[in-house]
Amino acid sequence: MSKLVIVGSLAFDAIETPFGKTDKILGGAATFIGLAASHFEIDAAAVSIVGSDFPQEYLDLLLNRGIDLKGVEIVKDGKTFFWSGRYHNDMNSRDTLVTELNTLADFNPIIPENYRDASIVMLGNLHPIVQSSVLDQMTKKPDLVILDTMNFWMDSALEDLHNVIKRVDVITINDEEARQLTGEYSLVVAARKIHEMGPKYVVIKKGEHGALLFHDDNVFYAPALPLEAVFDPTGAGDTFAGGFAGYLAKTGDISFENMKNAVIYGSTLASFCVEKFGTERMVNLTSNEVHKRLLQFKQLTQFEIELT
Ligand code: AMP
Repeated sequence: MSKLVIVGSLAFDAIETPFGKTDKILGGAATFIGLAASHFEIDAAAVSIVGSDFPQEYLDLLLNRGIDLKGVEIVKDGKTFFWSGRYHNDMNSRDTLVTELNTLADFNPIIPENYRDASIVMLGNLHPIVQSSVLDQMTKKPDLVILDTMNFWMDSALEDLHNVIKRVDVITINDEEARQLTGEYSLVVAARKIHEMGPKYVVIKKGEHGALLFHDDNVFYAPALPLEAVFDPTGAGDTFAGGFAGYLAKTGDISFENMKNAVIYGSTLASFCVEKFGTERMVNLTSNEVHKRLLQFKQLTQFEIELT
């Protein structure tokens, strides 16, 4: 089976949306990526760090979905990364209220020996030096390295971010972050500039407005599925990335054509994530539900037009 390495945060999140507020609940990029990737028959391992305050039941939740956690360090008496955010009324934008790195501040990821030859590496949103150190540990060049990042690192570690971006094949980034990284308003121009920084493929996530995949002069666009209920967009980007990476790992085909399908899988999984707070919707999601929604997606985007 193909191997996927996921590196990212395991976290406590506290979220406010126009629909309600949560106390500290399970969150983190690696959590959402792992839950999404667990929908594919692959060997997936999460590499992360938590404090001893992180409940075993949260780890069990990932273990039960087949995610290998040997690369998760538990720091005795340490505190787990905490993030808090508040969404605006449009639910497409949010303010970060608190970022407490805690154990994540000294994270030195160790990739388990049996995952150092993984075909796909998914670098979740983390300090770019940490992301780079993961690539240094791979004994075989991965077929594909995917990187996710956010404005937090553009503000605090831009040079390091540029250094790791040079080393990856795919970057997933949201629209505002693409604009911040390049100083360009047009996403087409921004994607071109990001190509020039290194990645051959650029995925720009636009929240409820879908996602764009750029490769050379090719562009593919997938809308987001129109949903009746959107409660909490937290983790949607990571869920997208987990679905995208998981599908590519399973199929072993990293062509642009197949990446279009990966975008559809990512978007489909993300459409579930936003329906409930935190990971609630993702933990019990069945493959049958995913299949039904993929069919809906197909219907939404398919049309026959005769062109002469
Ligand atoms: P998303 O909504 O997909 O952008 O991801 C939200 C998740 O990212 C939350 O569960 C947070 O715990 C996590 N997160 C937020 N900021 C950071 C950060 N600076 N480093 C690592 N993970 C973060």
